[in-house]
Amino acid sequence: MFCAPECAPPAYGAVEVAVKKCQRGQRDGCTAAALHVRHGMRDHATHMLTRARLAAAALLLAQGCASGARQPATRAPSAQAAQQAQRLFRVTSLGASPEDEVVVHLSAMEAVEVAQRWGGLRVPVNLRIHPTHQGLEEASRQSNVPWMRGWARFDEVELEAPSRWGGDRAPQNVTELLSHELTHVVMYQRIGERDTWMHVQIPLWFREGMASVTSRQGYRRMTGEQLGTWLRQHPSDDPWLQADALAHGAQPVVYGAAHRAFERLLAAHGDEGVGRVLDGLRAELGFDRAFADGVGVEPQAFLANFRRELEVAAGAGARGPAVAARVPGQQG
Ligand SMILES: [Zn+2]
Repeated sequence: MFCAPECAPPAYGAVEVAVKKCQRGQRDGCTAAALHVRHGMRDHATHMLTRARLAAAALLLAQGCASGARQPATRAPSAQAAQQAQRLFRVTSLGASPEDEVVVHLSAMEAVEVAQRWGGLRVPVNLRIHPTHQGLEEASRQSNVPWMRGWARFDEVELEAPSRWGGDRAPQNVTELLSHELTHVVMYQRIGERDTWMHVQIPLWFREGMASVTSRQGYRRMTGEQLGTWLRQHPSDDPWLQADALAHGAQPVVYGAAHRAFERLLAAHGDEGVGRVLDGLRAELGFDRAFADGVGVEPQAFLANFRRELEVAAGAGARGPAVAARVPGQQG
């Protein structure tokens, strides 16, 4: 017997996620799919889903939404996305909850579409969910980065379980995080191979700016005006070319500068310009040459011009009301 969400007994988080994802879809089909997810979990003595069952549940969920929808559901993943997902990634839990697995799987289905703006995923990606932050730091060989939620390599993404940082209650934040990390993965796969990608030197501002802009994290970053004000106050600091030196102490500035510079690059040269830079990197030109060939200006000149623009704009703004400093969050 099927039961409408409002009369269902207290549900696992997975059902809540499923129903939310399907809220614009046809109710019966989606409810049935959501119940399949829950029954799949209930059948298992320890509430742990196998990968195959999780993938099947997510596929069923997407199909229920897509086929039963009266009109296209903009937020629900399509059946095509679900089939693609089985080909493009797999989710591995290292002790995280089944709810975390479901949230990550469904969010990744949306995120791969966002990230593939810069090219197709040629190699399937393993998304590993760590139940603790320490587990994430160890797997990514980082330390003292409490704000980090994910870490990307050529065909792997390490993730802190969403339920550890509230992502289970706001799945759109998991999609945003995965869009960011998978953009890194897409870039790594576009510029190299498994044994060469890590040797391609790419400035932090370009790779983090690309991931931040692609995953629409501008609302987390400093505005251009805030950045311009900071730059005027720190004339000897360069958050782009000295990003690695500043990164730990001025992380919001470094990520804000990266985001705004990449945004400016896109405004001036479009996706095609960025694509030419990536092609140059794959051809082993080195970043400076790939950038200059791709968009017609040396990266140092592009950044110097952008800095001047920001400082001039902030100088003009400084005559108006003071801008309150904001410290945006960061996901990694
Ligand atoms: Zn990143």
